[in-house]
Amino acid sequence: MKAIDFKDKKVLIRVDFNVPLDKDGNITDDTRMRRALPTLTHILEAGASLIIMSHLGRPLKKLNEDGSINVKKFTLRHLVRHLTDLLGTQVQFADDCIGDEALLKSSRLQPGEVLLLENTRFHAGETKGDRDLAEKLAGLGEIYVNDAFGTAHRAHSSTATIADFFTPEHKTAGLLIEKEIENAQKAMYSPQRPFTAIIGGAKVSDKIKLIDRLIEKANIIIIGGGMAYTFFKAMDGQIGNSLVELDYLDLARDLIKKAKDNNVELLLPVDSKCASSFSNDAERDTCSSMEIKDGWMGLDIGPEAEKTFAAAIQGSGTILWNGPLGVFEFSNFAEGTFSIARAVAQATESGAFSLIGGGDSVSAINKAGLSEKVSFVSTGGGAMLEYLEGKELPGIKALG
Ligand code: AMP
Repeated sequence: MKAIDFKDKKVLIRVDFNVPLDKDGNITDDTRMRRALPTLTHILEAGASLIIMSHLGRPLKKLNEDGSINVKKFTLRHLVRHLTDLLGTQVQFADDCIGDEALLKSSRLQPGEVLLLENTRFHAGETKGDRDLAEKLAGLGEIYVNDAFGTAHRAHSSTATIADFFTPEHKTAGLLIEKEIENAQKAMYSPQRPFTAIIGGAKVSDKIKLIDRLIEKANIIIIGGGMAYTFFKAMDGQIGNSLVELDYLDLARDLIKKAKDNNVELLLPVDSKCASSFSNDAERDTCSSMEIKDGWMGLDIGPEAEKTFAAAIQGSGTILWNGPLGVFEFSNFAEGTFSIARAVAQATESGAFSLIGGGDSVSAINKAGLSEKVSFVSTGGGAMLEYLEGKELPGIKALG
């Protein structure tokens, strides 16, 4: 991006400003806005004007009862004041991302000025990658920058199709996307060894491709969260009412074998914090993960597993973490995930490179107050997962 001369240009940029809002429209976490700032300020300081596009939520999936769009809830107007504060310059707003007002306001922009467009997902064509919408959006600027890593795995009008309307010299990825890819590549292609991957979350079915690929790249794979119980079941363990995907038992066995064949150490939590029901206030007990009582379920890793996992993490040169190790939303079952967050932070302090690969592990590291103590926290849940799985991201491919 830094090779492009932005002076006096109108730059159309797609960012991921899909921030959480409270019921009054106040931003409750502005991380996504702050992560786009280096790109936005670079372009403004280079003497350009900015036309900013983003989506916010899924407005067409949550229509008003009369079938109209709930503009009040999903408008990007909620972001104008805070963006003005962050950029230190008054941000203008257009009530539709295409049409006369957007055209007029963008044509009148002077260098240093900023126009924020209304939610791109107010148009049904956006998520379908519609060409007509993409062409109209493209008509607003002279250079297209995509810095929305969080939606880079979507072939939408403003993230992918739009790039067809710009020549290679007039389109680029922004600094955030560059950083996301650089960090993912560092972990996957040139890891300082040992390379430890920590994979948690609810379902093994969501993470199979990732685990399969990591078996070819990592030295140690730590498996936690709900998905661990499918592995225990596959080893004939008694898992009570723990989460399990019975269709995936063979696959779990295959992964165990493949890891062994590749000399990859696959670590499962030997013990679990078990609960008598799926509730924070359930009766609790620590148990062997292979011997969970009928009616009980594993909701977090146990103290032995915490110790084993922490030791593996602390001896690592590279750490990739995707997915919580337990139901960390329940305070009584969050300790396992937090202990992993602390171990990753400590290993980073000792010189390891650590990448927090998006989604719930990002909320976990934030909740633990340790996001500044790891090397890189990804802004893209699904996008990072797909990139790590080895898939091509349409939003990046479109840039040529
Ligand atoms: P994912 O989106 O696949 O990364 O999964 C994250 C979700 O997995 C979180 O909402 C956790 O509460 C849930 N989870 C983690 N461990 C368990 C577990 N042992 N049992 C049930 N759900 C879990």
